[in-house]
Amino acid sequence: MALLWEPRLDDEGLRWRDLARDLTAKYFAPLAAELDRDQRYPWESVKRLIDAKIAGMFVPKSYGGEGASLTAFCSVVEEVARGCASTSAIVVALPLGGFPLLLEGSEDQKQSYLGGLAREGIAINFALSERGAGSDIAAIETSATREGGNWRLRGEKCWLGNGGAARHYIVFAREAESRAITAFLVDKEQPGVVIDFFEDKMGLRGTLTSNLKLDTLVEDSAIVGTPGKGLRLALKTLAVGRVTVAAQSVGIARAAYDAAARHAVERRAFGQAIIDHQAVGFKLADMATEISAARMMLHEAAQAYDRGADVSGLGTMAKLYASEAAHRAVDSAVQIFGGPGYVKPNAVERYYRDQRVTEIYEGTSEVLRMVLMRAVRSDFTSPSK
Ligand SMILES: Cc1cc2nc3c(=O)[nH]c(=O)nc-3n(C[C@H](O)[C@H](O)[C@H](O)COP(=O)(O)OP(=O)(O)OC[C@H]3O[C@@H](n4cnc5c(N)ncnc54)[C@H](O)[C@@H]3O)c2cc1C
Repeated sequence: MALLWEPRLDDEGLRWRDLARDLTAKYFAPLAAELDRDQRYPWESVKRLIDAKIAGMFVPKSYGGEGASLTAFCSVVEEVARGCASTSAIVVALPLGGFPLLLEGSEDQKQSYLGGLAREGIAINFALSERGAGSDIAAIETSATREGGNWRLRGEKCWLGNGGAARHYIVFAREAESRAITAFLVDKEQPGVVIDFFEDKMGLRGTLTSNLKLDTLVEDSAIVGTPGKGLRLALKTLAVGRVTVAAQSVGIARAAYDAAARHAVERRAFGQAIIDHQAVGFKLADMATEISAARMMLHEAAQAYDRGADVSGLGTMAKLYASEAAHRAVDSAVQIFGGPGYVKPNAVERYYRDQRVTEIYEGTSEVLRMVLMRAVRSDFTSPSK
């Protein structure tokens, strides 16, 4: 019996997981090294994700999607990340752009933009970060100023996952008069929207990460959610997104564990398989334990979300724990491989670089600890305690 803890998925979850496993084995994993080497965005894989209905799987059926649960979505992310972290980052970016609309979009917005994502795979990006405002999202300076009954959006967003590949952008901007933050839908093709810079990244090199320069007009109908409540919407979206990044982390960690364990039983040193040297075997024991624990946390968080619970606490803990467990897993994997683990094209060298951002995006580990620290304080200072 395999040692790693396995989630008990329902029929829906199993169907999606098996589909993702199949596509990953046939198409995504074989491309992983090439995408990393050439820093190439895999449009052909995006088409497969659309054709398999994975791109819009979280979109409700009433808007043309599959209405899949977050648990099923996370199972897909984990399988894809295990074979190709870059492709999993493309998958993870989809709900990040879609959830603001799902949570607070108008009926028209849902029909047209979520419908476009579900039917044609027209991606939406979550454009919050700026050079001067990453963790400190309340410091964003992109402005929204009234101009002839419309809104002029001015500023520059950066580090946008799927940036350039996405057609629509949920732009968080500060209203010039009230200074409150509001979310607006912006089309990449409209005048005054320019994407002219792509990051040269350490890992996830098969994804596009771009800037977004704005000097453009949008109508009131472009506002997503309640005017002035954009930050609340961003945080609600990130609360869900963090669960998906936990799934991505577990997928990368599992890939590192599989490779390292296989190597440890095959490689011999000092007359025995290196797994029988406790210093190596114990690393694998720790990896198996931590990956199982991370998986339990993320599945519990996803199921809680599917039951309608608030997952801002559990999802934050799952992302924090899973990303740091994945860090330890990829680090141990490189160590277990020794010299070859440090050299291309060994896959663990790539896992080591791909994993790193899971501790940075959708909330750095420090920011997540800050969120949890505040929750602890609130638990123990509320009047009922
Ligand atoms: C590949 C990639 C994809 C991304 N995709 C998107 C996307 O699609 N949309 C989007 O909007 N953004 C995206 N981002 C941006 C990402 O969310 C930010 O990089 C992240 O939030 C951190 O912000 P920062 O880089 O400005 O770091 P900073 O906020 O400058 O932080 C620097 C360091 O200081 C620490 N720090 C900051 N404040 C505190 C504090 N109060 N206490 C303790 N430590 C603190 C941080 O933890 C970090 O270690 C992406 C980034 C990358 C690399």
